[in-house]
Amino acid sequence: MGIDGFGSAFSCLWCKCPAKERFDTGKQWSMTDATLGARSIEEIVKCSKLKQKSVQFSCSHAPLFPNIPITHVVPDTLHLFLRVADQLVSHLLTELRKRDNLSVSSTLYAPEKCANMRRFENFVQKLNIEWQFYVNKESKRVSSRDFTGPEHWKIFNNIDLAEMIPGHPKLELITSLWTRFVTIVTMLKDKIPKDEIPAFRETTKDWLNTFNLVYITTNVTPYMHVLVYHVNESLELHGNLSHFSQQGLEKLNDRVTGWYFRSSNHKGVEALKQIMLKQNRLELLEEKHQRGPNST
Ligand SMILES: [Zn+2]
Repeated sequence: MGIDGFGSAFSCLWCKCPAKERFDTGKQWSMTDATLGARSIEEIVKCSKLKQKSVQFSCSHAPLFPNIPITHVVPDTLHLFLRVADQLVSHLLTELRKRDNLSVSSTLYAPEKCANMRRFENFVQKLNIEWQFYVNKESKRVSSRDFTGPEHWKIFNNIDLAEMIPGHPKLELITSLWTRFVTIVTMLKDKIPKDEIPAFRETTKDWLNTFNLVYITTNVTPYMHVLVYHVNESLELHGNLSHFSQQGLEKLNDRVTGWYFRSSNHKGVEALKQIMLKQNRLELLEEKHQRGPNST
């Protein structure tokens, strides 16, 4: 697309919302209406050639596929779910660490002294998720890995936040954030009728307003902005967004990575050829299985 990364001052692919205004649901942003900050391919090309950073709107080069209009670039709901869920979990972990007096720079994790973190570990392990806090060998700090999509679902559907962070002054709001996020993602899995899109938009806007009541404004991420401002527009333009989700591609990536590391051949083109042949054989067998036992 030619836009700088998530950390840049204008990181949205679809509009020119400044990072520092991302939290402000009173502002209007659009991917189709230039008067509401919508980007266009022509503008990205033009801005990327300007010398002055302040007028580039984080456009660093021309898009790789200039023939694809911006409105044909669809937000990926799988990554949107993963990254926003990561944020909610990360804020919870920060609170647990705070309760256990374990700072970001801590280099030692003693479970017997960290009752709150241990409670969360026990909870996820009871859900058959292999996960724990550990000391990262490189940074030497207490860390934890991100959860996968299915793991997030298990956690969001089973967690009792009142048990996890008892007495938190904003417990009700945090619980509402978690449960309403599940509702929003569940709604996106099906087709949302056109006349219900405005209500969906309001639901996401209310969700962000609640987020702003709990966390500081700079905690609002680019994916949250996309959820509130551009998912509804994409629903209007393309209907069911789950058709565009990269879930299948991600599954293929997991499968292929596993094959690569389990195989004895790790040499360039030959290893790639073996993987492709294996995938083709599997697809052929699956197709045959679907057609029935007498097919040729
Ligand atoms: Zn935007």
